[in-house]
Amino acid sequence: MTTDTQRWTVGDAIITSVVEDEIAHIPPEFFFPAATASAVRSHPWVLADYADSDGNITLRVQALIIEHAGRTVLVDPCVGNFKTSELPFWNQQEWSFMDRFIAAGFSPDAIDTVVHTHLHADHIGWDTRPEGGAWVPTFPGARHLYTAAEMDLVQSASDHPSYRESILPIVDAGLADIVSCDADLGAGLRLEPTPGHTPGHVSLWLESDGERAFLAGDILHHPVQCAEPTWAEIGDADADLARMHRRRMLSAAAESGVLFIAAHFPNRPAGRVQVDGDIWRFVPEPGA
Ligand SMILES: [Zn+2]
Ligand SMILES: [Zn+2]
Repeated sequence: MTTDTQRWTVGDAIITSVVEDEIAHIPPEFFFPAATASAVRSHPWVLADYADSDGNITLRVQALIIEHAGRTVLVDPCVGNFKTSELPFWNQQEWSFMDRFIAAGFSPDAIDTVVHTHLHADHIGWDTRPEGGAWVPTFPGARHLYTAAEMDLVQSASDHPSYRESILPIVDAGLADIVSCDADLGAGLRLEPTPGHTPGHVSLWLESDGERAFLAGDILHHPVQCAEPTWAEIGDADADLARMHRRRMLSAAAESGVLFIAAHFPNRPAGRVQVDGDIWRFVPEPGA
């Protein structure tokens, strides 16, 4: 498992990946019903960095931290510790994420903004931590941003443990802001509406000194979807809409040459999208 902290520079900005967990040897059909290991094996560049020689894939859960223009912005804070989940591999876990976050030089108090590409349990977990029998904000100095469509969805299922444990305490603490799906967040950061995986899913553009990065969230879950953009992920709420935005953003990323990184890309998670016939390939960019 690659848990080392990785960093990339984009103009004057720094993007840091802090890993919560990375799991290898996953049969691809577990997450992508249309996938087969032999189809994964047909893409040699995928085997080089993102799958084993049998065609079983690696996936990661990571948070991305952007430091730019005096801001420190946390994107998609993972599953979190001691959370309740119907998925055994996320239930009541005790990860070393916060140790890595601090070892990377960050302090919870220094985070000024938390961006959620969507509100699945693996993108909100570290927003709260248990203290004295209650869930309290981990990042008390941060505005926590939610799109209205995502907030409406989770509030319609307000008994769900991930809402009670990871979102309601933020709302109750007055730290939640509802933002539009194309909001300008300042410091070169702008949301891009990319619905499909969830109704209010957003991705994030970063621009600094003429360079750009695109933080995709869950519009694709694994680099193999650059080559197999029709593969839906089991969690895609509207698979056709997700496919449309996946293709749209892969095309835009290839055309503009931005640094591209998605929430669950493993091992060498940032890179450039290149046109490869009528599909794409992902060329990893070494981090520091
Ligand atoms: Zn998701
Ligand atoms: Zn996810």
